[in-house]
Amino acid sequence: MIRKEGKCRWTYTCEPCEVRATFPDQFRAIEACHRHERSIEHGFKLMTRALKPIIDAYLGFANGIIGSQKDYALIPPPNLPHDPTLVRDRRKWGGR
Ligand SMILES: [Zn+2]
Repeated sequence: MIRKEGKCRWTYTCEPCEVRATFPDQFRAIEACHRHERSIEHGFKLMTRALKPIIDAYLGFANGIIGSQKDYALIPPPNLPHDPTLVRDRRKWGGR
């Protein structure tokens, strides 16, 4: 954004990049604005700003999956046979 702050004091500020420059006339401020907005740094800043919610959501989703799998890995599987007749065999699975 270009603003006139006083006599012979034109400032150009880019909020996402936190760039602030002062020039004696509006033309130089406009030129600096164009130069900055064409720069790679500014493009990346805008792109990361636009993609941040998506990246955050993705990281949250990935952490959720990892967290749930950690919990799953910590719980031991029930030590019971799949065959129900063996479960009913009380000599082996508790009691007499
Ligand atoms: Zn910028």
